[in-house]
Amino acid sequence: MKKTAREELKNKKRIVIKIGSSSLTHPETGDVNLVKIERLIRVISDLRGMGKEVVLVSSGAIAAGRQALGCQKPQTVAEKQAYAAVGQARLMMVYQKIFSEYNQTAAQVLMTKNTIVDNTSRENARNTFDQLLKLGTVPVVNENDTVSTYEIKFGDNDRLSAIVSALIGADLLVLLSDIDGLYSDDPKMNPDAEFISQVDELSDALMSMGKSTSGSDVGTGGMAAKLYAAKIAAGSGTDMVIANGDDVGVIWDILEGREVGTLFTAHRSPDFTLLDYIESVHP
Ligand code: GLU
Repeated sequence: MKKTAREELKNKKRIVIKIGSSSLTHPETGDVNLVKIERLIRVISDLRGMGKEVVLVSSGAIAAGRQALGCQKPQTVAEKQAYAAVGQARLMMVYQKIFSEYNQTAAQVLMTKNTIVDNTSRENARNTFDQLLKLGTVPVVNENDTVSTYEIKFGDNDRLSAIVSALIGADLLVLLSDIDGLYSDDPKMNPDAEFISQVDELSDALMSMGKSTSGSDVGTGGMAAKLYAAKIAAGSGTDMVIANGDDVGVIWDILEGREVGTLFTAHRSPDFTLLDYIESVHP
């Protein structure tokens, strides 16, 4: 009997996991949630133990910097960039420390849009990822917020994680968010909104459902960004699941083929070119 797309998720080998600022910080204070990070690292370390390759796309640089500096929410671009400079290093310190407790080595990869647009940089980035995965490390990716201004920004880590997935030929992208997945309407506004468990075609009607349903004000990606990420992932041949990152154990449920979150099945298009998507990164 033919396996369902959900059952196939068990066999995914190269997995990109994206976690957003809202899932990594305490809602009351915006401070980094260490227990959450530790749990996530435990799951990833176990995936490594199963022989899977894992890339983590982690936000939280600005939040961690704000916390370290004891400042309020940043107002200007320069403030955000300065907070990110402090916070990215802090965040990596935490990742390095806890990953090493589980006998794993974290590696930092910071990117801007130029990394992908420039042919030489894109090739270099691809080779670096391949080498890092061959070496058995867990690359931890973020936008290089400290130097990226609007023109060279990906905009949000949902898209960045889809671009990384396309770049490295990942076979699964898991977006951990503060929502359970895709609904036919904003479930916070419309109690009749229906949950959609699987999407095999990203029609125009579906794309227009992408209102900004993310309840948080710490991250940048709403549902529109997630659907855009799905377009990149699916078109490049990567299955993608949006799930609630409240409990990072959801990653196990996904890999066991359970009906959690929304699965966007891959349909590699022969016309897919990553650059087309990069150019329209600020649609
Ligand atoms: N790169 C930003 C950070 O690490 C977050 C971007 C996003 O959440 O989409 O703080």
